[in-house]
Amino acid sequence: MPEPLHKGERTFRGIPVSAGVCRGKILVLDKVRPNFAKRQLSDGEALEEVNRLEKALVETRHQILDVQRKVSQGMGSHEGSIFDAHLLVLEDRTLLDEVVRVIQEEKVNAEHAFHTVAERYATTLAAIEDDYLRERATDMRDVTARVLNNLLGRNDEIDLRHLKEPCIIISHDLTPSNTAQLDKRNVLGFATDVGSKTSHTAIMARHLRIPAVVGLKNITEQLETGQYALLDGYNGVVVVHPTDQTLFEYGQLVRKHVTLQEKLRDILLKPAVTLDGHRVFLSANIEQAADAEEVKANGADGVGLFRTEYLFINCDHLPTEEQQYQAYRQAAAALKPMPVVMRTLDLGGDKFLSHLQVPSEMNPFLGWRAIRFCLQERDIFRQQLRAILRASAEGNIKMMYPMISGLDELNQANALVEEYKGELRREKAAFDEKMEIGAMIETPSAVLVADALAKRLKFFSIGTNDLIQYTLAVDRMNEKIAHLYEPTHPAIVRLIKSTVDAAHNHKIWISVCGEMASDPVLTPLLIGLGVDELSAAPPLVPAIKYVIRRLKLSEAKELAEFALNCESSAEILARCQELARQIAPSLFENN
Ligand code: PEP
Ligand code: MG
Repeated sequence: MPEPLHKGERTFRGIPVSAGVCRGKILVLDKVRPNFAKRQLSDGEALEEVNRLEKALVETRHQILDVQRKVSQGMGSHEGSIFDAHLLVLEDRTLLDEVVRVIQEEKVNAEHAFHTVAERYATTLAAIEDDYLRERATDMRDVTARVLNNLLGRNDEIDLRHLKEPCIIISHDLTPSNTAQLDKRNVLGFATDVGSKTSHTAIMARHLRIPAVVGLKNITEQLETGQYALLDGYNGVVVVHPTDQTLFEYGQLVRKHVTLQEKLRDILLKPAVTLDGHRVFLSANIEQAADAEEVKANGADGVGLFRTEYLFINCDHLPTEEQQYQAYRQAAAALKPMPVVMRTLDLGGDKFLSHLQVPSEMNPFLGWRAIRFCLQERDIFRQQLRAILRASAEGNIKMMYPMISGLDELNQANALVEEYKGELRREKAAFDEKMEIGAMIETPSAVLVADALAKRLKFFSIGTNDLIQYTLAVDRMNEKIAHLYEPTHPAIVRLIKSTVDAAHNHKIWISVCGEMASDPVLTPLLIGLGVDELSAAPPLVPAIKYVIRRLKLSEAKELAEFALNCESSAEILARCQELARQIAPSLFENN
């Protein structure tokens, strides 16, 4: 990123939520707020005010339905459904009854009553440490602004659909309805005081591909309409009055990004195949059913790792078998016929449940985690295995166990699966009799007995994040020893090769789903070592595919051969970097 600290310019830093760089005149919204001043009603006026309110509510409902329809048509039903939350605000009887009561009892005008009550609700929601509820506060304010505008008989202060010239919108909190109405031709980008990566506005900005930065605190107060600015949606920066030097540096950054994005877009639907025709299966790692869209949008071949524990962590009670079944089935149905590999619960280590009384341990990563936890907490495991089995009726689910350290654990887990299959047969519940079962290889002991494991499994998936920490005895969470956490350590390279050999000797499939698979620099090494599948974070899938499509299997094998005979992590890494830069230079010169 260019250093935007040149003389005469002002730099604001926030959260980057939608990629891209733009520059132009800014338009500051929200400087003029609607007038909802209190007006005392005379006797008999209250009924009229309540009628006025009801009319405004009906009008608002029509407007929201209209925006929803346009957004659904233009962007898809998922984006359109964001407005369901807005419609719910209009149907919230507790809120509306209270507004009516304030009008009648305090004898005040509808604008004042509505604003006071709704703002109190929104403030309470906004104060809760929960992204979801904070977003509900934004919804509430979005709807309130509309109702007030209708009560006051005004249109949105500035009609964002018909801006006269291209501009960067600066606003306290651009609401989803505002965002949906943005005229893409004239809105270069936007920046807001508040907001988060998961806000609906951020989601829509990404879909509209409008560069955006949120969380800039009080930028609206500091800027004036008409000033010239540059907005960097990659790094979350707004530069006002940028110097020529800054503009020049950003010009170069933009050119590189545009060229790269075009290249990545071009190959989105193409297969991950090397120049000499070797097909690599390129999947994505996900944490919830809703991520299925991202898998497709990034051109992945399926899901190589569904980290099911997030379903358990993000709620204050254990998810039921039925809730799990729905989530797993939904992911599988959304991605059919692409395969979805569900990993059974990997709790412990750094992932805990607040509501489960797990005793604290001296070495949690060496303790009661993953398959060890599940084999003891039979009820929890049973519900999950049944849910996965039932969801497997979709036909494209595979399942794997985390942190298998030896044959005993595998045999016990497999025996339980057989027992629950029996239960489901008796209940006449559908499931895939042929659902493939695999194991994560993430302990050195699993690598050493991989032969025995391979005989009993259909696939392996190497969890390099844990394999590295257990092999090198380097806590993956401890920043003091982070320099010792080396994916290209000769021991890791050799362990991966042993695992590949064991898998292929038994004719089973082998994947890597740890972060090594998300690093384009290491893609050639893993392919050269013989890995069949890479499963990466969804946004990195296009870059990995780009490397694969510019690589020759022969080069990858040469690199792997070198790495297997090399004694130094640094040298292996240097060779990986050299090859990656040589075959895909544009990927590595962007920041
Ligand atoms: C791994 O260990 O590499 C892995 C993919 O599992 P997790 O990161 O969830 O422990
Ligand atoms: Mg792991």
